[in-house]
Amino acid sequence: MHNLVCIKHTPDSAATMFVENGLVSWGDAPMVVNPWDEYAIEEALRAKDKFGGSVTVLTMGPESSKEALKTAIAMGCDHGILISEESMESYDARITSLVIARAIEKLDNVQIVFFGKQAIDGDTGLVPMSVAHGLGWTGFSYVAELSGIDVENAHISLVRLLEEGKQSCSGKLPAVISVVKEINEPRYPSFVGIRKASKAEVEVLTLDDLELDDKITSDNNGSLTWSEIQEIPRKSTDAELLDGPNMNSIAAQLVEKLVEDKVI
Ligand SMILES: Cc1cc2nc3c(=O)[nH]c(=O)nc-3n(C[C@H](O)[C@H](O)[C@H](O)COP(=O)(O)OP(=O)(O)OC[C@H]3O[C@@H](n4cnc5c(N)ncnc54)[C@H](O)[C@@H]3O)c2cc1C
Repeated sequence: MHNLVCIKHTPDSAATMFVENGLVSWGDAPMVVNPWDEYAIEEALRAKDKFGGSVTVLTMGPESSKEALKTAIAMGCDHGILISEESMESYDARITSLVIARAIEKLDNVQIVFFGKQAIDGDTGLVPMSVAHGLGWTGFSYVAELSGIDVENAHISLVRLLEEGKQSCSGKLPAVISVVKEINEPRYPSFVGIRKASKAEVEVLTLDDLELDDKITSDNNGSLTWSEIQEIPRKSTDAELLDGPNMNSIAAQLVEKLVEDKVI
């Protein structure tokens, strides 16, 4: 089986976002593999452990995104691909998906494309199913369990996690899936993996390599731009310390105040 994981290099989840000159910034926050994507990497590696074959990891982003690919290789992925070009900074989810779908078409015999459910910076959750649409492949979002892969009959069955419950589904391969954190417990990079990743060559592709340049330029004219970003005004909060001779009297004061403020 040849499977692919798409990952994004994002600011660490502990980083604080702020608005600087009308643009989103995370300051000098450390960059990591998008936390949701760790589950996608793990699931692709589990499929490899079970069925053999290889896992390619792909990201579109600046040169520094190679670090994310190296982390994925250290976890066990076999090959890394970086799609990089300066104009990519302004791409919205639609163009991002178009580029990724094109890169997948150029790869050999990919059967499952794994994504995390969303990226913690852009946060649209649009890319996985847009890629499925672009490829004309089966798409499954919010996957919490891969219950069966039948390589011979090109069939996949899985469980989706919805707010209301779980949904069992099946469909044809090749497929694109986006996974939720309930699917597995991601492994840590091994010592051997880290050594392998440090020597691994990442393949770099440009839009020219994907023969997409003209299409992107023309499509990008009508794409979505973030014209203004506003921070949510900070709420000023007053804190009051309740004091009393014992817990019962403090609890009674608390109840009185909550009733006064119509909270209960
Ligand atoms: C500084 C900045 C400015 C931006 N300006 C705009 C703007 O003007 N208009 C606009 O629409 N968007 C803008 N974006 C958002 C950016 O284009 C999105 O991040 C991008 O479209 C991908 O969508 P997402 O991050 O919401 O991914 P999601 O759809 O939430 O991610 C779901 C899955 O797709 C994967 N994925 C997402 N992006 C990639 C990638 N590049 N390579 C590989 N896998 C990927 C994720 O890793 C995850 O597994 C901006 C982002 C930044 C950081």
